[in-house]
This record gives sequence, C-alpha cells and structure tokens, in this order.
Amino acid sequence: MLEAQKFSVAYGAHRAVEGVTIRLGPGEVVAVLGANGAGKSSLLRGLMGLAPAQGRLLLEGEDVSFLAQRGLTEALVGRGLVLVPERGGVFRSLSVRENLLLGGYRTGEPPWRDIFSLFPALEARLGQRVGSMSGGEQRMVALARALAARPRYLLLDEPTLGLAPLLAKRLLATLKAFAAQGVGVLLVEQNAGLALQVAQRAYLLQEGRIVREGSAETLLHDPIVRQAYLGG
Ligand code: ATP
Repeated sequence: MLEAQKFSVAYGAHRAVEGVTIRLGPGEVVAVLGANGAGKSSLLRGLMGLAPAQGRLLLEGEDVSFLAQRGLTEALVGRGLVLVPERGGVFRSLSVRENLLLGGYRTGEPPWRDIFSLFPALEARLGQRVGSMSGGEQRMVALARALAARPRYLLLDEPTLGLAPLLAKRLLATLKAFAAQGVGVLLVEQNAGLALQVAQRAYLLQEGRIVREGSAETLLHDPIVRQAYLGG
C-alpha cells in the first residue's frame, strides 16, 4: 500500500497541494482528476521527492516521508515507486533497447516478455533511436521503460496527452494489464471520461485539495465531475 497523509507541496508561498490524503493498493488503478493547475503534477512530483513536499508518506507501512521531503528520489525508486512524467521520460538520443536497459539498471534484466506482450510494436523497433519515433510511440517507450524498472507503484502523469483517441484508449487498457500483475497505478488524467473507464477509484483535486473521492462509478455520476469534466 502507498499512502500519503496530509501531504502538501509548496513552491515558496504558493501552496500547490494542501493536506491531501490518498491511498493506492497493489493491483489497483486509481485516478486523480482535476483541471489545469489543480496540483496533479505537483502531487506526483512531491510523492517522488521531485517537488518540495511536507506530510507523511507510507510505503508498505514503512514511513518514508523523509525520502520525499529530502528529495531522495533514487531511494523511492529503489522501493518500487516509479514516475512517468507528463513529458519526456525517455532518452531521445538512445535506442529503444538502451532505454529499456537503463530502466532496468537497478533491478536487473527488464521483463522483456511482459513488455513485448503489452507493447508488441516495440519488439521490431529495439534498435530505433527514440528521438526518431512518433509522439505516441515515445509515450509507449516511456511506459515500457517504467515497466522495465519492475515498479510496485506506478505514477503516471497524463499518459494519453497528445495521443490519438484510439491509441489513448489502447494505452489505458494496458494499464489494466499492469495492475493485473499486481502493480498499483496512480493515473493523473484530464480526460476524466477515459480515466474513469479504467480506474476503480478516483480523487478529484481542486486548487490543491481533494474535494471528492470514491469509486469510479460514484464519480461518474457526481454532478460536479459531470459538469466540470464530462461535459454535463
Ligand atoms: P496541468 O494539468 O496543467 O498540468 P496540474 O494539475 O498538474 O496542471 P501543477 O502543474 O501541479 O498542476 O501546478 C499546480 C500549481 O503549482 C500551479 O499554479 C502552478 O503554476 C504551480 N507550480 C507548478 N510547478 C511550479 C514550480 N516549479 N514553481 C512554482 N510554481 C509551480
């Protein structure tokens, strides 16, 4: 279980995330919804020790707050917490193979079989330089690279951004496959409709605070979510 309690992220006087409590279990897909600037990226970056964070962070019951607060990101990665950022997350000048090997440098051999069963298109492109791939293909490499690190908890920042609708749908379907292998997936998405199709639960963030939480089914029928994020 990944658990953040009264978790905050502040850039100087600007409080981007304010006293947020969230829980993510192994094998769960949980969505974090919210408008531009709601604090979604800041929350994920704070959990990884990549943004100035306060509050408690528990990983399998172990208090790892100090790792997030001190920016000890490598130690969090070592405990199975992996972020796929909104942009990038790949080494563009390196091949697909090199990206995947780097993803797995800490844990050993990447789980090739799993990676290719989720992203069959990558197998024929192992030698291709990632910078020469399409945006959608690069997103797949970023996800595959995260998977190569054998995450226990995967934090995804807008993985479908800039993808064609069909590809976005397919990519979110692969998240279910991640989860089926026991990985907990925290999915930040502006596309609430898509996110609530794959997530079991969701949190709605507004101005850095959680204003709604519940099952995907409950949030799909919530008036605020419907009005603001699902077009009424
Ligand atoms: P989007 O969907 O547009 O990516 P978001 O919900 O991910 O938005 P954040 O990127 O977390 O929102 O931003 C939350 C607030 O924090 C915004 O007001 C933003 O301007 C501010 N912010 C983010 N990063 C920094 C930073 N490094 N320094 C100062 N302020 C920041």
